[in-house]
Amino acid sequence: MTTTSPTRRTDPGAMTRSEVRRPASLADAVRELSELGGDGAALAGGTWIMRAPLQDAPVARVYVALDGLVELRGIRTAGGTVEIGAAVTHDELAAFDGPPALAGIVDAARRSAFPAVRSVATVGGNIAAVGFPEADLVPALLAADAAVVVAAPGGERTEELVAYLASRGTRPAGELIVRVVVPAPAGRRSAFERLTVRGGGEYAIASVALTVDLDGAAVSAARIAVGGVEEVARLSPAAAAALVGGPLDDAVAERAGQAAAAECTAREGLDAPGWYRLAVLPALARTAAGALSSPDQQK
Ligand SMILES: Cc1cc2nc3c(=O)[nH]c(=O)nc-3n(C[C@H](O)[C@H](O)[C@H](O)COP(=O)(O)OP(=O)(O)OC[C@H]3O[C@@H](n4cnc5c(N)ncnc54)[C@H](O)[C@@H]3O)c2cc1C
Repeated sequence: MTTTSPTRRTDPGAMTRSEVRRPASLADAVRELSELGGDGAALAGGTWIMRAPLQDAPVARVYVALDGLVELRGIRTAGGTVEIGAAVTHDELAAFDGPPALAGIVDAARRSAFPAVRSVATVGGNIAAVGFPEADLVPALLAADAAVVVAAPGGERTEELVAYLASRGTRPAGELIVRVVVPAPAGRRSAFERLTVRGGGEYAIASVALTVDLDGAAVSAARIAVGGVEEVARLSPAAAAALVGGPLDDAVAERAGQAAAAECTAREGLDAPGWYRLAVLPALARTAAGALSSPDQQK
């Protein structure tokens, strides 16, 4: 008889007994996941799923692999937006020579994790992984005002990333992220900065992503997102407001970082106490703002 209850750490061999299915199309994948209900889960790069037994997280009876689905692949630029397939890997995204509006996303992909992980970890997995405050693409996508296209048994629909993040864990079976859609108007620039204990690709203690629209030298609109600090990356409206109305210099950026710190409730962790995650935000905001004047942003 097949069990439908999640398998816990007390059964470390559970993952090796999971079945992996390889549907040939997005429609087949959605149908299979829908029929499996709580017994099934999507499998993208597997870099988060493989940690389930260590994290005392549920292991699915059946994993539906997404690697054969052409609908989830590729990066396309069309009509002032960039569409990034959910199965695009961090490496593929890091190599994308896109407009400055996406520079922060590209940099987040380039600096996250380690080479072997980046070669398989995907955009969709980064967004969908629940309980992963340090996911680097998420703050960069939030700052870039990305939307998520979700496929479900009833068809596809587009949702704001903020709404998608808030509803993870309670969404019906059978849904898959197909792609993210990022607006890329002329004059928009973006940057991402992260801090780790030892440097390199380990999980970030905190990260800051910012996107600004420029009217001459003045910032006319801005979005700032903070990762690693709360349980889920979040936008900081107060920080964004601090950036708008004038030129973006170090002092303005630091004030924005302070505003973000005042808005966040930081989580405690073994890697850093909450107060430290907040204390580094002004410096991260200043460094990210400095990156906005790099040659990459002049395209
Ligand atoms: C040692 C190590 C260090 C890492 N460090 C970092 C880091 O610093 N920063 C960082 O950002 N990442 C890091 N990662 C990678 C991280 O695991 C991935 O970025 C990502 O969160 C998972 O992507 P994945 O494709 O492997 O997803 P998977 O592990 O395959 O899936 C993750 C979750 O998403 C769901 N899912 C996957 N694709 C979809 C989809 N299209 N639609 C709906 N649900 C979906 C799955 O069912 C599962 O619940 C690290 C990984 C490892 C192993």
